[in-house]
Amino acid sequence: MKKPRKSTESIWAGERDYLAFGATQVPVVHSVSYGYDDMDEWYEVAIGNKKGHIYGRNTNPTVEAFEEKIRILENAEASTSFSTGMAAISNTLGTLLFPGDRIVSIKDTYGGTNKIFTEFLPKQKIEVVLCETGDHEAIEKEVAKGCKVLYLESPTNPTVKITDIERMAKAGKAVGATVIVDNTFATPINQNPLALGADLVIHSATKFLGGHADALGGSVCGSKELVEAIYHYREINGATLDPMAAYLLLRGMKTLKLRIDKQCENAMKIANYLKSVDVVDDVFYPGLKEHPGHDIAKKQMSNFGGMLSFSVKGGVETVRHLLPKLNYANRAANLGSVETIVGPTRTTSHVECTPEERKAMGIPESLIRYSAGIEDVEDLIDDLEQAFHALPKYLFMNS
Ligand SMILES: *Cc1c(COP(=O)(O)O)cnc(C)c1O
Repeated sequence: MKKPRKSTESIWAGERDYLAFGATQVPVVHSVSYGYDDMDEWYEVAIGNKKGHIYGRNTNPTVEAFEEKIRILENAEASTSFSTGMAAISNTLGTLLFPGDRIVSIKDTYGGTNKIFTEFLPKQKIEVVLCETGDHEAIEKEVAKGCKVLYLESPTNPTVKITDIERMAKAGKAVGATVIVDNTFATPINQNPLALGADLVIHSATKFLGGHADALGGSVCGSKELVEAIYHYREINGATLDPMAAYLLLRGMKTLKLRIDKQCENAMKIANYLKSVDVVDDVFYPGLKEHPGHDIAKKQMSNFGGMLSFSVKGGVETVRHLLPKLNYANRAANLGSVETIVGPTRTTSHVECTPEERKAMGIPESLIRYSAGIEDVEDLIDDLEQAFHALPKYLFMNS
């Protein structure tokens, strides 16, 4: 049969084998263990010769259906899952890196990932090299010196910088590195890193995949060999996805294509609106022609995503006045939900960093991250308009 399109896959993919009792929806299997009357069968399942489940830390049918859906959307050979996106990242790095190894990445990775790079990996005598995000020559130069892992994220959190995945994957392959891409911002609807040459694609399912801000989860997709090694690390170390969370993520993913299309459309319109606002200093959105990564984004993504950010005149004081005035936005730390979510970067993605570290990463203290929801965009723009209008003028008299 012809491979279906992504809207169809979001709904149907991966579920068929997990429907029980004629149910049309994947059941939530809460059972921790699975019983066997036949000792030989139990043994065969335990050693992996026969399909089946033994214990919930290892596998679970609801969790497997979730893994299957994302595997198909990423067009991967294999897929495994985790309790959170950070567990997916730390377990993957834990599987691949050993004392004396070297990893090359970029300065603008997600705040938690950046902490792994700057705080935890060096303690294990793993050399971490962080290049300027978007400086492809610098990354190629560092990769050419040899590395075990090349770790990328595109678009990045929060200034939505773009890295050429195909070009970087080539550089990584040339030295035998495992190339990993955090695809959380793009989602499999807009970008498939494996098709661009990456070895592994990681998601925080907590964000766009689930899409309703009510379940935590993480995912890794790639070759059978790599994913099996990462799964083994996870099954022993225990960062397993909960079946109830897997169910919520599965249900959320049914509308993934619908939501992402709407969020991209809203983000584009809001980015263009923000450009016309006096108080706004800078707008960061890869869909804007003047964005430094626009051409690469156009080449490797089918749309530009639901995330944007902007900085405002008058610094942190303006942010403090502006955000509480919004009626249709949660002021919260997450992103990718059906509701619009806003937050100052210094209290969300990069709260773990010092002001000096944020400055070094090119993140203005007045930067606001805007995760476009699926509301009517006219209402979102009206809402921003009234909030900008109500700002006390003294805030930016001198800027
Ligand atoms: C949120 C996020 C993560 C971490 O995911 P959790 O589910 O919160 O652990 C990793 N990468 C990116 C790009 C994210 O936005």
